Amino acid sequence: MSEAAKPAAPRPAGRAGRNTELPEHLKAYKGVWVFIEHDRGHVHSVSWELMGEARKLADTLGVTVSGVLMGGPADDLELYAKEAYTYGADRCYLMRDPVLQGYRNEPFTKGLTDLVNSHQPEILLLGATTMGRDLAGSVATTLGTGLTADCTELRIDGRAMAATRPTFGGSLLCTIMTLAYRPQMATVRPRVMAMPRRDDTRSGDIVEMTLGMVETDIVTKLLDFIPDATRNTVNLAYADIIVSGGKGLKTAENFKLVWELARVLGAEVGATRAVTQAGWCETERQVGQTGKTVRPKLYIAAGISGAIQHRVGMESSDCIVAINTDPNAPIFDFAHHGIVGSAMQVLPVLTQTFRNHLA
Ligand code: FAD
Repeated sequence: MSEAAKPAAPRPAGRAGRNTELPEHLKAYKGVWVFIEHDRGHVHSVSWELMGEARKLADTLGVTVSGVLMGGPADDLELYAKEAYTYGADRCYLMRDPVLQGYRNEPFTKGLTDLVNSHQPEILLLGATTMGRDLAGSVATTLGTGLTADCTELRIDGRAMAATRPTFGGSLLCTIMTLAYRPQMATVRPRVMAMPRRDDTRSGDIVEMTLGMVETDIVTKLLDFIPDATRNTVNLAYADIIVSGGKGLKTAENFKLVWELARVLGAEVGATRAVTQAGWCETERQVGQTGKTVRPKLYIAAGISGAIQHRVGMESSDCIVAINTDPNAPIFDFAHHGIVGSAMQVLPVLTQTFRNHLA
């Protein structure tokens, strides 16, 4: 019998012929976990944003929320645990070891996979930061489970997590569910989820676990820390006001009008990819699918068309003011306030008005 004529092998039942049944031994996995990212004495805010989401998921499932804290002797993990409770955690898993002082993939992957295998959470969330992306991929691969990266929405469907993320260059949203494996893993970019409200009356318990690894087990050595020079100067993700410019400004010279308004408002400067690619400002200022996700109180978009890839990075802003010569520009479909006019005329007027008003 030729290969082509062979009868198809029987497949387990499920969507698209794949096994979607959760094996019996994975049904014991319970609870929602958040990996709490910290560096040089600071917890990354995305961890608390995820804690708020974890709380909602856990409440729907009727389970607990736990934070995972890994670090070295110099890290105040107990202090971070107390913070975690105020943002919704019921428990924190603590792993402290000299080899966990400063992030390296190998010891963190072993530590997190050991914790997961021992305590069996059904959901594990990480920030889609440089560290979170690096760690999530290796942990998911080691555990042999599913990971949905850069999610924009997380919810419970039945007993599974439905993780939504942009696809096809941001033109479509797809929802991915890990039905037959545990834990269900997802990463979320900073500022995609809202910061939860603190509740200082909350407390929780701590479960400690050891790593069981020594320095000679690890190939990567941490020699020095060189801070990213752009990090302190460009703080787009957490800015309250952003003045952003697009290709409608026509020239790098005109883009200075964006800087002038930003300076008067004490705002950060953002840009579209068309602008960063033209070299009118640094790539760190790009807002959108392949740039930063922002959530300011005020987002002023000057000469920006509102393409979906830009929109996904800024549509959660509290107030969007768009300036565009084309009354049919897509940005007017989701801006809260629109000014139909040339940015080269409107921006200087706004700058002068705010300068007079704020002086
Ligand atoms: P244009 O689309 O050229 O729009 C210029 C706008 O200015 C027009 O609406 C025009 O009416 C208006 N205008 C013209 N003259 C004036 C004037 N005098 N005053 C006021 N308005 C005027 N883009 C991003 O921004 N961020 C991303 O992260 C991103 N990621 C991408 C990822 C992928 C995979 C792909 C394929 C694309 C991505 N893009 C991204 C590009 C995106 O599709 C758009 O091309 C880009 O956002 C358009 O930038 P723009 O609005 O500045 O320029």
